[in-house]
Amino acid sequence: MPYPTGERMAATTSRRAKTSSALEPVAAQPKGALRILHVAAEVAPFIKSGGLADVAQALPAALRRLGHDARVCLPCYRRTYVEAEKRGVKWLSTPMIIESGGVDHHVGIGEVLLDGMPVYLLACNELYDRDGLYGPSQHQEYEDNARRFAVLSKAALALPGAIGWTPHIIHAHDWQTGLVPVLLQRGFCKALPATRSVFTIHNIAFQGAFPAHDMRLAGLDPWLYNAMHCEHFGRFNMLKTGIAFADRVTTVSRRYAEEIQTPEYGWTLDAVIRHHGYKLSGITNGVDTQVWNPARDPDIAANYDVEDLAGKLTCRRALREECGLAKREDVCLLALVSRLTEQKGIDLVIDAVSPYIIAGRMQLAVLGSGDLHLEHRLNALQARHPGWVYTWYGYNEALAHRFVAGADAFLVPSRFEPCGLTQMYAMRYGTLPIVRYTGGLADTVSDVSAGAGTGFTFGPVDIGHFSAVLDRALGLFQHFPAEWAAAQKRGMTADLSWDKAGREYEGLYKGMTCA
Ligand code: ADP
Repeated sequence: MPYPTGERMAATTSRRAKTSSALEPVAAQPKGALRILHVAAEVAPFIKSGGLADVAQALPAALRRLGHDARVCLPCYRRTYVEAEKRGVKWLSTPMIIESGGVDHHVGIGEVLLDGMPVYLLACNELYDRDGLYGPSQHQEYEDNARRFAVLSKAALALPGAIGWTPHIIHAHDWQTGLVPVLLQRGFCKALPATRSVFTIHNIAFQGAFPAHDMRLAGLDPWLYNAMHCEHFGRFNMLKTGIAFADRVTTVSRRYAEEIQTPEYGWTLDAVIRHHGYKLSGITNGVDTQVWNPARDPDIAANYDVEDLAGKLTCRRALREECGLAKREDVCLLALVSRLTEQKGIDLVIDAVSPYIIAGRMQLAVLGSGDLHLEHRLNALQARHPGWVYTWYGYNEALAHRFVAGADAFLVPSRFEPCGLTQMYAMRYGTLPIVRYTGGLADTVSDVSAGAGTGFTFGPVDIGHFSAVLDRALGLFQHFPAEWAAAQKRGMTADLSWDKAGREYEGLYKGMTCA
């Protein structure tokens, strides 16, 4: 259902205005507190296709816990509208008019409070009221994505004026918001002369590269179409534009900040990153411990904590039952929850696991969606090992929680991984991660062979190294239960919360402002 326009919006607004408090000014912030507007294409629980949504929810919440007035805005997609209605969204009666490429778009502003944090929904039916997020299917993009996200960046900059709230910092996430820094710097929004910009790269492989003529949608001077600014290999590149113009650039782990400066991981932007290295920092993501907490998780068969892991055994039994896996408690149950893409190393898993399954050493449960070719190969694997391999294709948040809680070990064999969240969720739930030593995986998981580790890591992406790490993990599970339990406890008690990352972002912001 689209967001209400015209008379319907007026009716909805006035009907709600009587009970409204969400659009009233919030209480004054303590001295030194910053006003920070986050802009993202996804924010959980309103819309999520990956880790960006988790971060765009949890980081502003962490900043608010530190006393700052952090808020977030995102496009109001069709599914977002439904979620926002459930949460009592309130619409401003006057939409903003956002021009893009000579077309005026009416962008409505909805506000909904998420645990006290104002979340602004930018509603424009002709751009966002669709079933898909970035395209009609996972394998196809919308043809007007350049316009959809140029309007998002412009609307985000117009929002503060519309709600009468001036941020010290606008923090834009990923290519979809890559035009925020340049528009801010080039004075698109006259009301924000002192506002500074931060741009975070969540995955440098996704760059938002469009034909050159799409630059007109941003309304930027044509001379900016050059290799130092918006152009990259003959395309208008929104990620590069964000990097070039932001006051500070961050990425989601320390190691990834180093990796993207190399040709191997830079996806052709490594030289650009090196050039802007003086303003780059890596801040490793955290875990939303409200959402991912085995002691209170409503989606799992039994709750448990580090003092008493009995509930984990119940979760494991329940998961085997739910997946129709053979009831073999002595066998290590490995889970994988992921986008099914080459990045995530799913092909390695498919190629390597059969000997271990045939030997009765492991079972595998996969939850994911993406590449159809990988789905077909996983189906074939499941057909070869009935009762030992389970697959579920699609997006299922509650099932993801049951996988994380019920498995013994968790696979994240990514070719590259900016941060990765699932390995941290696994650690919180006493499930040992088996990860490739790259990006945020290397920052967050230490190998048990080092003595005080929390999981298993492997280096080069090949069957030999992946099989070797499987051997080590399955060997520890079978023969050294005390060591396994000790690693579980270390993972469950590791500080993976957002508070640490929140403080690092706070330091970054304070260094950019006079607050
Ligand atoms: P990426 O952002 O590259 O996809 P991350 O590990 O950073 O990878 O974040 C992935 C997020 O999406 C996690 O919260 C994970 O639980 C979730 N997720 C991925 N696939 C699914 C799925 N099929 N069903 C439910 N949740 C999923």
